[in-house]
Amino acid sequence: MGLLSLGTPLTWEEARPYADLVRERGIEQLLNIWKKAKSKERDILLWGDEIEYLVVSYDEDSKDARLSLRQAEILKDLAHDEELRKAGGCVPSLQEINQKPGQRVPTFHAEYGRFMLEATPGAPYGGMLRDLLTVEPDMKKRRVIAKQHMTNNETPITMTSFPRLGVPGPFTQPYYPPHGPIARSIFVPDEIINPHIRFPTLTANIRSRRGSKVCINLPVFYDEKTPNPFKDPTVQYDLSDYPEDGDVRNGAAKDGHVYMDAMGFGMGSCCLQITFQAKNISEARTLYDQLCPLGPIMLALSAASPIFKGYLTDIDCRWNIISGAVDDRTEEERGLKPLNENKYVIPKSRYDSVSTYISQDPGFRPEYNDVDIHQNLPLKQQLLDGGMDEPLAKHFAHLFIRDPLVIFSESIKNYLVENNDNFENIQSTNWQHMRFKPPPSAEDAIGWRVEFRSMEVQLTDFENAAFSIFIVLLTRTILSYGLNFYIPISKVSENMETAHRRDAVLSEKFYFRKQVFPPRYANRSGKGTSVSPGGSMSNTPKPVELGPVEDEYCLMTINEIMNGQPGPDGFPGLISMIESYLNSVNVDVETRCELARYLDLIRKRSNGTWETAATWIRNFVRSHPEYEKDSRVSVAVNYDLIKAAETLGNGEGKGTSLWKGLFEKR
Ligand code: ADP
Ligand code: MG
Ligand code: MG
Ligand code: MG
Ligand code: MG
Ligand code: MG
Repeated sequence: MGLLSLGTPLTWEEARPYADLVRERGIEQLLNIWKKAKSKERDILLWGDEIEYLVVSYDEDSKDARLSLRQAEILKDLAHDEELRKAGGCVPSLQEINQKPGQRVPTFHAEYGRFMLEATPGAPYGGMLRDLLTVEPDMKKRRVIAKQHMTNNETPITMTSFPRLGVPGPFTQPYYPPHGPIARSIFVPDEIINPHIRFPTLTANIRSRRGSKVCINLPVFYDEKTPNPFKDPTVQYDLSDYPEDGDVRNGAAKDGHVYMDAMGFGMGSCCLQITFQAKNISEARTLYDQLCPLGPIMLALSAASPIFKGYLTDIDCRWNIISGAVDDRTEEERGLKPLNENKYVIPKSRYDSVSTYISQDPGFRPEYNDVDIHQNLPLKQQLLDGGMDEPLAKHFAHLFIRDPLVIFSESIKNYLVENNDNFENIQSTNWQHMRFKPPPSAEDAIGWRVEFRSMEVQLTDFENAAFSIFIVLLTRTILSYGLNFYIPISKVSENMETAHRRDAVLSEKFYFRKQVFPPRYANRSGKGTSVSPGGSMSNTPKPVELGPVEDEYCLMTINEIMNGQPGPDGFPGLISMIESYLNSVNVDVETRCELARYLDLIRKRSNGTWETAATWIRNFVRSHPEYEKDSRVSVAVNYDLIKAAETLGNGEGKGTSLWKGLFEKR
């Protein structure tokens, strides 16, 4: 989540009159940063991941695994440890530790769910390939440190969604009954929300702005004994404590679907995000665009969330659940009523795929931005008048069609153009699958960054490291060869939907660009295995005759995208491109061998040798002796599944049946 400013938050009704002011000031702050930082140049790559954890609490007597709501206590304890270090106690100082490569002290953060933790490396990783070997040990260390600050019956697990969040009966420790005044959910209590005032306010204001509770319907996975047609039996139709209790009587819960009605179902799920610092703004814009088409591919490949609210569903990924869980659009904005109070019909939630490319590279064609998007035109004009170019102004003007959801009265009074709080208010509540992050302030040492946001968190640190390292190596390869992954942005959105389908990684095809090498390489070698790394694309010879955009891409399986197609004209595969990049740079044998292990995971996930976490979890449930083949994930099955996730997460279980599928051919 974005910044945690402190102060007095306004309700939606109080905040609404300030929306234009916050947006105007946000643009003013952005322009101030952009003007001073647009010519920032730096050489080094810095990057870092974010891993989110569920904190689970076991009750060994009843063989139950619930969500522990002790986030605040655990974070406080972690911070206390940090103070001890700083005071020079027996634990080594942060500085001492950070000076040794690979020995950074991780940083822990709060997250939306009161049962979640987020951890990042204490300092970003550098650009040396050898640094990549510190990623997995760093992730392992985070898990160990987190665990040290929990009780004996608590444990951190890296599972994207908690299977029994929102089931009838207790699923948190301690237990609270559902149906509080903030989310007004019939399934989850408000006590699952991080009590920091920003989070309940965000939850309530999304609901108020929308005019109803958020509404998520996931197709159920029909197993042998699942009632057909399925009607979600956990929905209560007869409540009347809040006006929102009428949502289900007005058809919010769809037949054949698992119905959810609160922000916590989405923002309570865990992901793996990667942020890169580029050497300058132009490189950041290139990376933003080039990684954009990879978002859905990596979502499908990292799929890890087949269970929601106690049911196996027919989808494998969390993305659309979060999208629905923070969808603050009114009925007018969703096109259900003629526009009257609102300005636009908006096709997407604030949490959705990217809708416009931003780079000015020669490989970009205007046809790739094939989706008409609403823009805040007066604010866009201000950006253009300030000197910003059209594609970047359009990007921000699109983000700025949204209202600020949480406004602190202090931030209205204490406005400074040198800050970025008003800008971040809008920026950090536009949760797109890529984020373009300007420096926090005009004077900041931190540069222009790009965040890759679509991946699901993996059960083990080996996998989390593999996915992170794959993305880092891919960015190096993209920049080194000047690769071009552009496809029309509407196809990226279509791919995003495809990525959710059960087992999409093996059974679906995705739109992908056929010829990704810039012309000077393409002329020499279509396969790209013999290309040498080059400089920028500015040396590219005269542009070749461009054909129709539709001829530039086709449908490919993820196996083809990663591992390549047969034949001299077939797509060479991203992994072989990364390998030729590695061949072209100086890298010692040990590093090269270790990196090969990580690339091998991506290769095997893509060709089906190893299962996604989603498939593994689904199979775990379906082959459990106590599973009743009715799609329901019971207390007993959940307990064993969470224990298995803990075992694997701790790097144990090798050689046992747990390993089957995930890291061994089933
Ligand atoms: P947010 O939640 O806003 O996306 P976080 O601060 O949680 O951001 O995580 C940002 C990630 O970016 C961390 O992994 C951190 O190590 C990394 N990072 C920090 N500074 C830089 C930088 N200058 N360049 C690149 N990455 C950075
Ligand atoms: Mg987070
Ligand atoms: Mg965040
Ligand atoms: Mg974060
Ligand atoms: Mg992030
Ligand atoms: Mg969507």
